[in-house]
Amino acid sequence: MTHRVLTGARKFAEHELLPRTDEFDTLADEPPFALYRRFHQAGLAHWWLPEHHGGPGLGLEQSVDVVSELAYGDAGTAFTLLVPYTGSLMVQLFGTDELHRRYVLPMAASGGFCALAGSEHEAGSELGRTATTAALDGDHIVLNGVKAFSTCADFADYLLVLARDATEPGVFHTVLLPRRTPGVRIVKRWPVIGLRSSWTYEVALTECRVPADHLLRGNGLRILESGINALRILIGATTVGVARRIRDLCMDYAADKRLGDGTLLDNAVFAARLGQMEIQIDVMRNQCLSAARTLDTVLARPDAAAELLRQGTLRSAVATKMFCGQTGWDIASTASEMFGGLGYTEELPLGKLMRDIRYASILDGGDDVLRQLVYNRYVLPAFRRI
Ligand SMILES: Cc1cc2nc3c(=O)[nH]c(=O)nc-3n(C[C@H](O)[C@H](O)[C@H](O)COP(=O)(O)OP(=O)(O)OC[C@H]3O[C@@H](n4cnc5c(N)ncnc54)[C@H](O)[C@@H]3O)c2cc1C
Repeated sequence: MTHRVLTGARKFAEHELLPRTDEFDTLADEPPFALYRRFHQAGLAHWWLPEHHGGPGLGLEQSVDVVSELAYGDAGTAFTLLVPYTGSLMVQLFGTDELHRRYVLPMAASGGFCALAGSEHEAGSELGRTATTAALDGDHIVLNGVKAFSTCADFADYLLVLARDATEPGVFHTVLLPRRTPGVRIVKRWPVIGLRSSWTYEVALTECRVPADHLLRGNGLRILESGINALRILIGATTVGVARRIRDLCMDYAADKRLGDGTLLDNAVFAARLGQMEIQIDVMRNQCLSAARTLDTVLARPDAAAELLRQGTLRSAVATKMFCGQTGWDIASTASEMFGGLGYTEELPLGKLMRDIRYASILDGGDDVLRQLVYNRYVLPAFRRI
């Protein structure tokens, strides 16, 4: 099964994504739904869901190369297609069987999407400052607030909303909110500078009522942290795909670039740069695989939900996103010098790839914030940890 999905993802990237590189670097009027449908029809959508839930059943470790293949073709599309990974995992772990049956299975059957709505204008990296409220009203929960960034929200089946308890401000909830609930309003689509084939929105929630059983079980902040672990690892995997594409562009360019009696390919400085790049890509991929194995091991435990609520953010997941983001950026920067003046023009897709890869150091916690988190949780002596 892994081989089928991996080959399918590679072919999809080759035939459906790579030829549309320029188009994917524009802010189109609407998402390419026909493209997503073909991904679904090829049996590739929701590749992480088990077969009896409508997917091919790959673990996170196998997902790393699948995502890398997709991101080789286009990182924005890869990101769009992997966002529902976290949203379905969170419902599977922390929701009731009924919620799973009502929302995740139909989403899988239709090749649909779900979205995370955590970040707010005053609470992105620091989700503890979340101002959106969840109030219990009889057997319903009422949500009010504004979510600054939520990828796929407009065309999602449901949103997972992080909210502060309206009566106990120190308590947080994660609530499953069907997209079509009255009061959910898309304020705008963000005009992003990279990853332009992904769709990120500001969303206002006004008196949105959902049945009380749409509340996921456990501390809402920890639930979000648990889900984001997988997302951080897969964001790392997208940078591997983009970095591989940058490397291949360098090789193509060097084969044609005349230098002395030969081409740039024969040049020792170029060889050293590309050798270094290959090592960086190898370590990035291995870090993704290692972190994915760690999380797969937790997910295989019968008490996975409780264990993740206990651990929250996994160091390996944070390390993966940060290392891959920084190393990917280094690779993109090295490459941009390699093409001479052309590297600074729109003649080559390098500008797109640079802007695409930059997202890894920003989403799901900026690097400075994550450095601080790692310091507080893992570097300080145990008795001083936060
Ligand atoms: C394309 C895109 C898609 C996104 N998709 C989603 C999504 O689907 N769901 C979702 O919930 N969010 C999403 N986000 C939001 C994203 O995760 C946040 O933007 C990110 O976590 C950074 O948070 P912020 O924007 O609030 O910036 P901040 O965290 O406020 O950072 C701004 C500056 O303040 C500094 N700073 C902040 N706190 C600290 C601190 N404690 N110590 C030191 N420095 C600090 C940062 O280093 C940075 O320099 C998306 C964002 C983008 C751009």
